[in-house]
Amino acid sequence: MLLALKSHARSDKIFGLHFRRIGSGPWLATKATLLDTSTSVDDSAAVRGDFAASPNYQGCPADGLRGFFQCGSCLRLTSSDASFGDTVTCAWCTNTGLLSTRMMTATQTRE
Ligand SMILES: [Zn+2]
Repeated sequence: MLLALKSHARSDKIFGLHFRRIGSGPWLATKATLLDTSTSVDDSAAVRGDFAASPNYQGCPADGLRGFFQCGSCLRLTSSDASFGDTVTCAWCTNTGLLSTRMMTATQTRE
C-alpha cells in the first residue's frame, strides 16, 4: 500500500509512504520516497486498521520524523513527533486537532 505523506514543516513536497501488513496486524510504514506526479497513491480514506512505523522505517525524508498522524478531516497523513493528547495541524488542510489514539488519529476540533 502506498499513501501520500506531507511533512509537518510546511514543505510542498509530497512523499509516498509505503506500508505493508502481516495478517490482521497494523499497517507498518516501511519507507517514504519522494512522490512524482505520475505515481498514483491509495486512498487513505479507504484504509482500515491501525498504523505503525516498522523498526526499519527511516522517517519522513523532509524532516526525519518517524511519527505521523492521520487527519480526522481529510484523512491524509502528516509527519509528526507529537504524542497522545498533543495538538497537531494537518499539513494538507490545516485542520487542527488533538491526537486521540495511540496510533495518532487527529480528532478535528475546528475547521
Ligand atoms: Zn487534513
